[in-house]
Amino acid sequence: MEKYQCSVCGYIYDPEKGDPIGGVAPGTPFTALSHTWACPRCNARKDKFYPGVMMREKPSVLARLYFAEDIAYYFIAFILFLSAATLIGIALMHLAKGLTTINILNVVNDVLLVVIILEIFSTVLLYLTERRISLTPFILIGVISSIRRILMVSAMMSVQENMAAEFFARSIKELVVSTGIVIALIAAYYLLSKVLPTAERCVGCLGKERREE
Ligand code: FE
Repeated sequence: MEKYQCSVCGYIYDPEKGDPIGGVAPGTPFTALSHTWACPRCNARKDKFYPGVMMREKPSVLARLYFAEDIAYYFIAFILFLSAATLIGIALMHLAKGLTTINILNVVNDVLLVVIILEIFSTVLLYLTERRISLTPFILIGVISSIRRILMVSAMMSVQENMAAEFFARSIKELVVSTGIVIALIAAYYLLSKVLPTAERCVGCLGKERREE
């Protein structure tokens, strides 16, 4: 079975490997691919592929840019991983200080921040492995951030004695706004899950659908 190469980015379609990203089983010849199939690297149409791999021995400028982008994303993933590990260390230090209300709240705050970082981390990994961005982690990050804010404001209010009226009013306003954001984001998530099936709830897939029209 003959290999085919993308003339835009240099990606080589190997029939023996298939295209795991595009859901093409190993052993599928290029000619048997659906006309809606696109390059998993640059989203080029099937007609941008040519038989053989001799035409572009060196990667094109675009492929080099993709490579540079991958390196940048690996670096970001590494930084995120380090940040999450550091935060877990800080949370443990807070716990070691004793189980006071403020310490427990600090730990909850740190753990929620770790969850946010892990969500971004998984988004980066999804982009590196499947070249698509999912919308759902961003909604989740918004929900967690708002919940962190609610926890912090509530903690400040409970600690503060003889609270000034102005501070009280501002805190209540912040609590109402944060709660509103949480409800709005959960509603957005619900609507999104109604409109798009799980596998297609991503920016890259939406682009692909538009291109096929
Ligand atoms: Fe390509």
